[in-house]
Amino acid sequence: MAVSLPVAYLNGKFLPVAAARISPLDRGFLFADGVYEVIPVYAGRLFRPADHLRRLQSSLDGIRLQNPHDEAQWSMLLERLVRENGGGYQALYLQVTRGTDTGRDHAFPQKTPPTVFAMASALDELPAAIREHGVRAITLADIRWHRCDIKSVALLGHVLLRQTALEQHASEAILLRDGHATEGSASNLFIVDAGVIVTPPKSTDLLPGITRDLLLELAVSHGLAYRESRIPETQLHRAQEIWLSSSTREVYAVTELDGRGIGDGKPGPLWRCMYDYVQQYKTALLSAAP
Ligand code: PMP
Repeated sequence: MAVSLPVAYLNGKFLPVAAARISPLDRGFLFADGVYEVIPVYAGRLFRPADHLRRLQSSLDGIRLQNPHDEAQWSMLLERLVRENGGGYQALYLQVTRGTDTGRDHAFPQKTPPTVFAMASALDELPAAIREHGVRAITLADIRWHRCDIKSVALLGHVLLRQTALEQHASEAILLRDGHATEGSASNLFIVDAGVIVTPPKSTDLLPGITRDLLLELAVSHGLAYRESRIPETQLHRAQEIWLSSSTREVYAVTELDGRGIGDGKPGPLWRCMYDYVQQYKTALLSAAP
């Protein structure tokens, strides 16, 4: 588990995370009425902040909640949080809810300020064992709602799916909807089919991952063939390679799905290329002037 670093931000104040308090009448607590973002920080620098803040805006638009800050204010707040926690490699978590009401009513409250919370945790490299061996995954029916493109704090579906995977000794659940694989419970999905990288197109069935965008950009810049198209369950099971992507784990290989080996049971050659391209991309970014 990623343990929180000491300093958090709550409604205008930087404070020890253990001292942060919200009301039980906060709509985030009562209704999961809020959205969140997770932004990786490499050597003290936020990775693709504009993309993450754009997705935050689109999540806020999706739940009809006004953005409490403009991009410059968010950047200042988040950069200070990184500094307060000692810089280096972090995963920033931020959450905006529809605020604290005077009681419990589903209807939107009038003129209630949103609750803005942010914290950080240490961002670790992908463990060597996962680089070498990949992970096990299982397929599960997607029990989530119909707006998976919104990064909502209502994660009960994700929690139950992930827990089921863990209890079956798998790291991740790959989700099936209408006979198609859409994404992982906390990651986007890529397969390699006949030498071509395939990922499902953006839709309300999946979160538009920032790492997903990065991998497609890297496929273009390195001349790797890719296609955005739906992945029928049968195609998933006969894939040459399966990868998962997320901000905290970048890109890693699934080498066993539903108890059967994928490819030769080891992370595949295209995954290896993509993993190396991501590392090169990060190195180039960090050596460029801020
Ligand atoms: N899909 C889901 C359901 C997720 O929770 C996540 C992030 N944890 C992703 C995809 C990957 O998105 P990103 O690359 O922006 O972290």
